[in-house]
Amino acid sequence: MITALAGGVGAARMLRGLVRVVPPAEVTAVVNTGDDTVLHGLHICPDLDSVTYTLASMNDEERGWGQAGETWAVMEALERLGGETWFRLGDRDLATHLYRTQRLADGARLSEVTGEITAALGVGARLLPMSDDPVRTRVTLVDGPEIDFQEYFVRRQHAVAVEAVRFDGAARCTPGPGVLDALAGADVVVICPSNPVVSIGPVLAVPGVADCLRQRRDRVVAVSPIVAGAALRGPADRLMAELGEEPSVVGVARMYAAMAGTLVVDESDAARAEEVEMLGVRCIVAPTIMRTVDDSARLAATVLGAVSGLTTTDASPR
Ligand code: GDP
Ligand code: CA
Repeated sequence: MITALAGGVGAARMLRGLVRVVPPAEVTAVVNTGDDTVLHGLHICPDLDSVTYTLASMNDEERGWGQAGETWAVMEALERLGGETWFRLGDRDLATHLYRTQRLADGARLSEVTGEITAALGVGARLLPMSDDPVRTRVTLVDGPEIDFQEYFVRRQHAVAVEAVRFDGAARCTPGPGVLDALAGADVVVICPSNPVVSIGPVLAVPGVADCLRQRRDRVVAVSPIVAGAALRGPADRLMAELGEEPSVVGVARMYAAMAGTLVVDESDAARAEEVEMLGVRCIVAPTIMRTVDDSARLAATVLGAVSGLTTTDASPR
């Protein structure tokens, strides 16, 4: 069994590769819910949905979020009414949020609802919300107020300097059903190339998760989301710098050193492999930019190959 810690897009690309090299039923993803928000009374889980849509091959590759073939009639109608439209919700995407919100109102847990949605959409891997309890990522701006993560990320397009980040509710939340077992029982734990501060950070803040990784460090393989000193998209590099960490593979290695025995870095960072190893982290250099599903499958094979005694089948279509 393979268990991955996942944020949104970077994780979705890693996971679509993992399910090509091992049977999807053997892949579990523990997904960040710190980005979750309520808008128009709807419960929105951006990272769970990015991973779900990608694994269901329903994602929009170009836009990078949401569903392919999406239309925006509801947003246009809402705009005419003067409603809040800074967080774009497509017509098809809204069905997911309507379904989830109603089921939660019925008393179902987020983990159950996630299981229902992924089953309906034909996702073979198991997606586990990191917790069924609300955890909310909060961002303090330099000289500014503390705001909700989506206010920072979407409304302000992360174009503002950040002083601090915290995960409200994380310390007292209960890990989602199956989360700690999936980590304890995995042959390999993969830390996906997601934002280390605001995507992986909340998952590691769930009680028991970081401890479990520390105990199984030899089987934990991280993939650096920072390539040649920059994030491929999003604010990971700036957030790391603003919070006092070097935005580089060395900085990523420092953040994960206690939990991951191995870090996979991009070829363009080969010159820094020695510095990573000096932190006590084995460094594997490989192409890590996943433009195609084949790129993802190749990287997945490299990641799993990093832990000895594990065999993978060759990339075969699902
Ligand atoms: P979000 O929740 O959608 O913002 O996405 P994540 O937190 O999962 O991902 C953001 C990070 O993923 C950024 O730092 C990107 O550099 C990284 N990322 C996205 N695609 C790739 C990829 O193909 N390879 C690598 N190495 N990193 C990636
Ligand atoms: Ca996210």
